[in-house]
Amino acid sequence: MNATWNITANRIENLIQSLKTERKKPFCAYIYDLKQLREHVSLLTATLPSQCRLFYAVKANSDATILKALAPIVHGFEVASLGEIEKVRTVDTRIPVIFGGPAKTDDEIQGAIHHGVSLLHAESFHELRRIEYIAGQLDVVVPILLRVNLGGPLSTATLQMAGVPTQFGIEEAQVPEAIALARSLQHVDLQGFHFHAMSNNLDAEGHARFITHCVDKAQTWAGEFDLRISYLNVGGGIGVNYHDLERQFDWPVFTSQLDQLIKDHGQPNATMLFECGRYVTAACGHYAAEVLDIKQNHGKHFAVVRGGTHHFRLPAAWKHSHPFTVVPIDEWRYPFARPELSDSAVTVAGELCTPNDVLARDVVVPRIRSGDIILFRYTGAYGWAISHHDFLSHPHPEQIFLDRDDLAID
Ligand SMILES: *Cc1c(COP(=O)(O)O)cnc(C)c1O
Repeated sequence: MNATWNITANRIENLIQSLKTERKKPFCAYIYDLKQLREHVSLLTATLPSQCRLFYAVKANSDATILKALAPIVHGFEVASLGEIEKVRTVDTRIPVIFGGPAKTDDEIQGAIHHGVSLLHAESFHELRRIEYIAGQLDVVVPILLRVNLGGPLSTATLQMAGVPTQFGIEEAQVPEAIALARSLQHVDLQGFHFHAMSNNLDAEGHARFITHCVDKAQTWAGEFDLRISYLNVGGGIGVNYHDLERQFDWPVFTSQLDQLIKDHGQPNATMLFECGRYVTAACGHYAAEVLDIKQNHGKHFAVVRGGTHHFRLPAAWKHSHPFTVVPIDEWRYPFARPELSDSAVTVAGELCTPNDVLARDVVVPRIRSGDIILFRYTGAYGWAISHHDFLSHPHPEQIFLDRDDLAID
């Protein structure tokens, strides 16, 4: 990606080699670089325009150590369940929390009120009425944003939550009616709109255009209904380029367009919220799995690792080859030949008994041997968090969190 990242990657390779000398069992670990995480996110918050706030979407990686590292840097956390609210509150009792999701139960709405959630994103007419009902019983007024499912087409991101038929939000044509309903309710305080619409958008200019579109819509409704907008939540969805690590989302172009957009369209009192998951935590995570076997079948080469999609489901879910490097391990314990492969295309498969347990397909490597360790990059978001850990009952990977000094080995 860039020079700093490569230094970090080299250090992580060195660290794995030294950890491997202490471990007899096949190596399998998630390794998180908290220093890199802090530096990356500090840069994001420092370079966003002053009217913006960066929230972290907890579902991308809800590990307590990650949340603790992020709490002093981000402006708050975005959650999608009572469980996530509780995880955040265990780490920080005061940090702002905003709560969305299409299937909130009564317990979750009550829990959000109890835990002092700053904003609820109302996803439907019925949910608005349920928030009103529960808030009325508790005799409180709940600040909300209306989640809007904009008319499409919106973008070319990997996943679309809006601009197409989905379970999310209130469709654009019904927004005037939803505004009228929200305003007629006594225990709901409409403070603006929520527009999360996509995941893994790599196009910085396209993302700025999407946000301009959101701002235009919000200003139109504000004018028509004489609404005072305090918050505009433009969602997450900033992507990671897993196919070409050198060409990532162009953050400097994005923030300069955002600056311009705010100058041109600015509403002095409206705060723009971002709730990014992938873009915050993907880069700080690495998944390392030791090669147990190298074999050939029907003309293809396979490296089979101690690990797999039950630890790291993302490549199977998205049907992509996840980028990796091979960490050479020189020690060989057996008194017979070491299986190895050079300058060949290899498919990296896991330990599960299903042909879907594949992490990368037909990737040419200079050399790979049984006993080497494969290091997958950019695994800090939607990695461990979305995987089916106990399928086949293999041991879980180690979770290693590196802090400032741990990486000072050269
Ligand atoms: C998942 C999600 C996010 C985070 O999305 P990323 O693509 O990880 O940035 C933000 N907001 C909502 C409502 C979500 O569901």
